[in-house]
Amino acid sequence: MQTASTPTHCPYCALQCGMALSPLPTGGVEVVERPDFPVNRGALCGKGRTAPAVLSSTVRLTSPLVRSGGSLVPATWEEALDRIAGELGRVRDRHGADALGVFGGGGLTNEKAYTLGKFARVVLGTSQIDYNGRFCMSSAAAAGVRAFGLDRGLPFPLEDVPRTGCVILVGSNLAETMPPSLRFFSELRDNGGTLIVIDPRRTKTAEQADLHLAPRPGTDLALALGLLHLIVAEGRVDEEYVRERTVGWEEARAAAMAHWPEYVERITGVSVPQLRETVRLFCEPEAAMVLTARGPEQQSKGTDTVGAWINLCLATGRAGRPLSGYGCLTGQGNGQGGREHGQKADQLPGYRKLDDPAARAHVAEVWGVDPDSLPGPGRSAYELLDALGTDIRALLLMGSNPVVSAPNAAHIEKRIGSLDFLAVCDVVLSETAALADVVLPVTQWAEETGTTTSLEGRVLLRRQAITAPDGVRSDLEVLHELAARLGVEKGFPVEPEEAFEELRRASAGGVADYSGITYRRLAEENGVFWPCPAQDDGPAPGTPRLFLDRFATPDGRARFVPVSHRPNAEEPDDDYPVLLTTGRVVAQYQSGAQTRRVAELNAAAPGPFVELHPRLAARLGAVEGDRMAVVSRRGRAVAPARITTGIRPDTVFMPFHWPGEGRANTLTNPALDPTSRMPEFKSCAVRVERAE
Ligand code: SF4
Repeated sequence: MQTASTPTHCPYCALQCGMALSPLPTGGVEVVERPDFPVNRGALCGKGRTAPAVLSSTVRLTSPLVRSGGSLVPATWEEALDRIAGELGRVRDRHGADALGVFGGGGLTNEKAYTLGKFARVVLGTSQIDYNGRFCMSSAAAAGVRAFGLDRGLPFPLEDVPRTGCVILVGSNLAETMPPSLRFFSELRDNGGTLIVIDPRRTKTAEQADLHLAPRPGTDLALALGLLHLIVAEGRVDEEYVRERTVGWEEARAAAMAHWPEYVERITGVSVPQLRETVRLFCEPEAAMVLTARGPEQQSKGTDTVGAWINLCLATGRAGRPLSGYGCLTGQGNGQGGREHGQKADQLPGYRKLDDPAARAHVAEVWGVDPDSLPGPGRSAYELLDALGTDIRALLLMGSNPVVSAPNAAHIEKRIGSLDFLAVCDVVLSETAALADVVLPVTQWAEETGTTTSLEGRVLLRRQAITAPDGVRSDLEVLHELAARLGVEKGFPVEPEEAFEELRRASAGGVADYSGITYRRLAEENGVFWPCPAQDDGPAPGTPRLFLDRFATPDGRARFVPVSHRPNAEEPDDDYPVLLTTGRVVAQYQSGAQTRRVAELNAAAPGPFVELHPRLAARLGAVEGDRMAVVSRRGRAVAPARITTGIRPDTVFMPFHWPGEGRANTLTNPALDPTSRMPEFKSCAVRVERAE
């Protein structure tokens, strides 16, 4: 038996906390602290601490399942793989390659995300691939590319946070989503800096803030414009910086000047004195940061909303300077790496664009195929799911549970049910896997080696610490076997390091260049920040801090983008008079496929709830614990009332981790951002009533 502990990282969120796994005499592993990893210094939240429970869970899948006579029944791997390859081939022959869909996940390792993208384009020949990370941070990614020419969640390490002067945290509840990161913000305040939190709810994070602004959901674009208006009016623009490091200021300035503070107060509900105080706290220190998360990003105007916050940073010279900048707090475990290496609809590895002839030529050469054989860009995640059963007849799904996590989920569940064929790779029988024709049981985090890229852009090595149960294979083995059955014998390695070596070559020269990163380096260092081009004279250093000399645009200057307030896709009316916003709780993760199977986490967060203000509750005649029906134009969800003054009276909140009658995503609006194609998870109009 192995006795030494294995250093690795948590399987859940993008903080990718360091931990070690120590073998237990009874079998299995336990989590031990790993204080040497600088991001969490040994601290873990409950999800990380209990992660091994899913490894040995009794609900773990250990045999392929094949639908027969309406039920999923155990089958051999040969039978299951043959069935998948046969069905994919049959659908392709009958309907064409684009009738095949592939759906990935932001939790897949870089190696898997890369190989899945290659599999879709080279083996299946389909353009129809996207992933659930589209639902996470795609608006920030689009806004970052537009302004800076590059999207990396944080352009600086988290350890810079305590040394800046002020942080505006927009739509992020770090205290529940990534608790160990909170210490950076506590240290910021201990050092005399200020924390401003913008959230319609008084969250646990907002309770830590020096100033909490609670705008109406979906109005933070207007809020940022009002702040920029005041910055101009109070003469706080850094004119020299704007002149030397940016373009497009005049248009952005004109757009902001149309947003008078009193007008912004009417839209957002945030008072003019609070706006002025925010400007003072943000502008007075020498350095400051704006960090956004799902609040501003999951909107049908998410790209412009993030763009407005970036404009604020640019106007005040707070981007591309030490201890200053804009960053996105990416959510999913490999949300960053997962969006760099080819499982996005429009993308090739290295953050290359699929419609760029030079990018196609480079990647095609690495893959040993004709560039003309690579399909073009496909549909975004929601559009792909919405096309199931119509244009797309068969789907291969890996690392995602859209029956719970997609917006307008009842509709998407129906679309999935109308497919000719669905194959799912998962560790448990998720709500989506339960609808499949074939389910393949795959290895998880501690049973395999692979790399992830954290929200800091830090590439990390997760090491295998335990042998997978009998009957389970890795996603890379699955893709290798399917490729061979579909006529591609080479180019789909089962060894993660071999896949990473190819990824390095495919990413070389791209925006997200990993060519200077090796498994050996990752085993010796606490991660390496990309871009990290290979160099001849010794190890490439990596880039912890971006943009200090120039932005990643052709002329090195950042782009202001003129943006203006616009309403939510769905505003309250007589029939649906309240706004619903959704989010997470500390003891559950995303669709809950794993965390709902951990007893300790389930005890802490056993089910959904509807958070509502006492004034709204009184109007509805509701008391704590009453079963409340929340009804939108898309459906109805029922959950117990939780009454709190920590939410606006015009808004209700539901966490989205559960299926069934309390599924929050039954209600959410799939209205898409025109640039990022992000659905509007964060606001929709609902009616709330006591459920009979
Ligand atoms: Fe895991 Fe995120 Fe919790 Fe850290 S904060 S232990 S990475 S879930």
